[in-house]
Amino acid sequence: MGKYSVIFWDLDQTLLNFDLSQRCAISKVFRHFGLAVDERMLARYDAINREYWSRLELGEADREEVLLGRFRTFFEEFGIERIDPEEINSRYQEELGSIYFYMDGAKETVLELGRRGYRQYILTNGSAVAQAGKMKLSGLSEMTDGVFVSETIGFPKPMKAFYDACFRALPGVGRTSCIMVGDSLTSDMRGANNAGIAACWFNPEGRSNDTEVRIDYEIRRLAQLPAILEEEYV
Ligand SMILES: [Mg+2]
Repeated sequence: MGKYSVIFWDLDQTLLNFDLSQRCAISKVFRHFGLAVDERMLARYDAINREYWSRLELGEADREEVLLGRFRTFFEEFGIERIDPEEINSRYQEELGSIYFYMDGAKETVLELGRRGYRQYILTNGSAVAQAGKMKLSGLSEMTDGVFVSETIGFPKPMKAFYDACFRALPGVGRTSCIMVGDSLTSDMRGANNAGIAACWFNPEGRSNDTEVRIDYEIRRLAQLPAILEEEYV
C-alpha cells in the first residue's frame, strides 16, 4: 500500500448510476400520481433538480428547499397544482432507495481495493432514506467500511464542516492518507480541496475542468484507480 490507505467515495454517478435510477424512480412516481411525463418533462425535471443541488453546494439553499423546491418549480412550470411536493418527495425517496445500477467497474473496483486492504467510506449528499436503501440493496454497505450522509451530518459536501465531521468519526485517520474519488467538481473535488485531502476526479466523459478546483488525479474508468493508488509510494 502506498501513500493513501483510506478512500472517500462519492456514491451517485461515481459508484452507482444515479441518472438511470432517477429516470426510473421519477417516471414511476409521476405515473403513480397520474402524471404522464414525456422526454421533455424528464429533461426539465433533471435540469431543475441540478440547479437546486448546486445551490445547496454553494450554501444558498438548505435540504428542505432543494427536495421540495425542485418539485414546486417543476409543477409551476407545467401548471400542475394538485400534487403535494412533500408527498411526492417522500414517495420519490423511497423509490430511489429501492433501485440501483452500478457504474461500470464500480463493484469490481471496490471489492479489489477491499482485498488490498484499503479502508473505504462513502460520502454522499443524497437523502438518508434513499442512500441507505441503495447501499443495502447493492451490497455496498457490506463492501465498504462506512457511510457519511450529509442529511445526517448537517452539512453537505463541499463544506469543510462536512469533512471535519467525518474525520471526527474516524479517529487515527490522517488527512494525508485520504483520497476523495468522485464525479463532481463542485461537491467532491472542491470538498477535497476544502478538507485538505487528495482529489481524484472520475471523469468518464473527458470534460474539461472549467473551475478553479485543484485536481490531483484524473481517471476515465474506475478500474484505473487501484494502479494509481499502488503507484503512489511515499
Ligand atoms: Mg456524484
